[in-house]
Amino acid sequence: MTTFQPLAEKALRRQLPTRAELLAVLSSSDDDLMDLVAAVFKVRLRYFGRRVKLNYLVNMKSGLCPEDCFYCSQRLGSEAEIVKYTWLKPDETAKAVSAGVEAGASRVCLVASGRGPTNRDVERLAPTISDIKEQHPGVEVCACLGLLSQGQADRLREAGADAYNHNLNTSEERYADICTTHEFADRVDTVEQAKHAGLSPCSGLIAGMKESDDDLVDALFALRELEPDSVPVNFLMPFDGTPLEGTWELTPQRCLRILAATRLVFPDVEVRLAGGREIHLRSLQPLALHVVNSLFLGDYLTSEGQAGSADREMIEDAGFEIQSAGEPTLPRERHDLLKARRRGAGTALPPNA
Ligand code: SF4
Repeated sequence: MTTFQPLAEKALRRQLPTRAELLAVLSSSDDDLMDLVAAVFKVRLRYFGRRVKLNYLVNMKSGLCPEDCFYCSQRLGSEAEIVKYTWLKPDETAKAVSAGVEAGASRVCLVASGRGPTNRDVERLAPTISDIKEQHPGVEVCACLGLLSQGQADRLREAGADAYNHNLNTSEERYADICTTHEFADRVDTVEQAKHAGLSPCSGLIAGMKESDDDLVDALFALRELEPDSVPVNFLMPFDGTPLEGTWELTPQRCLRILAATRLVFPDVEVRLAGGREIHLRSLQPLALHVVNSLFLGDYLTSEGQAGSADREMIEDAGFEIQSAGEPTLPRERHDLLKARRRGAGTALPPNA
């Protein structure tokens, strides 16, 4: 039995690993990496088989953000050489969405830079969402517009959005080290608002921002409390002209350990390989498919990703298959976890005390 097998068995029982167990995974040796991936692959296989969900990002509004997130090339004062534009026109959005769907994406993520949308922005987006749902049946629409105000999540849901993304990014303790214009609690609040409106919550992290293993574990536990349906794991893309410029502290092996730790905390939740995979995992990307069950296809918000054809080829070569639109992502039994109480007060059976 490998060191990691008991941990994988725990995940198969949907039991949360302890802090010590996660720290042991994160600090394990490169010599044990294949054992770790093999153990975690059993969990991936059990809940997601060999399916890979493809997601496609459409950056509807790029740059010019008044917030100062240190990792972001679109931040206030960023000198990163990125494309900057205000809201895409509906036909430009439709064209970008169609390209992603034709390439195999079963979820499109409509993203806009900024602290959060105005009600006018939400109204502008509503018909776009409805059009996408009509033109691409089975394709999920996720909105990612920043901090939400009262009522906006409901309006997005009403327009047909399936999900809302807002990442926690790092631990609460470190949040002020990566952003000073909003707080960790604001991010938590937005994910909660999205959940209450019936939007599928998507929230993840960015690794490689000088955090410690303890910070990563804190971030994973905080995410787990939000009960997201999908968890994107980004690896910092340290753009020149941002405060984290030159921060290259990840190795492909460390990225795999971070993904494995994430899978152990989220055995039956979509774990998505997100930004930075090409530059940090490099030729080890196919190994990551044994841990995650989802990835972003094509380009990121302000940087270029691997060609879609190379992604599809990688998936096929590694023996995985692309999930089709309309095919459910999450294991069905995940929704069976909530059991109506049939014992204790008001019943003839003894309580579970
Ligand atoms: S992450 Fe979002 S809110 Fe923060 S600077 Fe970038 S675009 Fe603005």
